[in-house]
Amino acid sequence: MVKKYALYLVRWQLSTPILAIVLIWLSNMDTLLATVIANLIGGLIFFWVDKFIFRTLSRAPLWEIKDDTVCHDCGATGRGYRIAEWLGYNRKQDKSPQFRCEACKDAKMSEVRSKIKKV
Ligand SMILES: [Zn+2]
Repeated sequence: MVKKYALYLVRWQLSTPILAIVLIWLSNMDTLLATVIANLIGGLIFFWVDKFIFRTLSRAPLWEIKDDTVCHDCGATGRGYRIAEWLGYNRKQDKSPQFRCEACKDAKMSEVRSKIKKV
């Protein structure tokens, strides 16, 4: 948390020169309008920086479970499992998620584990 807080304070300092440059550039404009425009430009840039700073990563696998589904690997029908998110592995927005049965999910988990250790 302290690291994230320090990073956030650095991000605030980075916004200062950008806002100053924009305000100097718009110095002939009405002060209130120039400030609104400067903050709009800052918001366009720092929304993405803040999103990066405050992203969270699941340390344990986040499972999605679905009943009455077909296992992607063996074709068995029943309760299916898939890892939606695990550290840098993120399949939460997967348009065609692959579910696996109880027996096959562990093999997939090992595969994902080997991928995220490389990240
Ligand atoms: Zn299976």
